Amino acid sequence: MFSWVKNLIGHARGIGGCLRCGDRWNWKPLHATMYTTSRGCFPLCGSCWRGAGPGEIERYYSELVRRWRQDGSFYDQEFEDHLIEVALKEKGF
Ligand SMILES: [Zn+2]
Repeated sequence: MFSWVKNLIGHARGIGGCLRCGDRWNWKPLHATMYTTSRGCFPLCGSCWRGAGPGEIERYYSELVRRWRQDGSFYDQEFEDHLIEVALKEKGF
């Protein structure tokens, strides 16, 4: 099946996706970053994670936190900085 068809199905079901390429989690493998022992987030799919530079990591993880704030969750700047730091470390930057 074409990826745009699969993305359309994911969109219709309200399934989120990669902030970089837009592919949805109903079919695309994601990359989870654990920021506590039990909590993780996944702004990027596996292939975008592998291809992302430090600037992109910062941009997309920051974008994710911004979206959480829009959804009414409280995540402060300290949390955002911590999350980006964890992701950069995980990536080896
Ligand atoms: Zn992607």
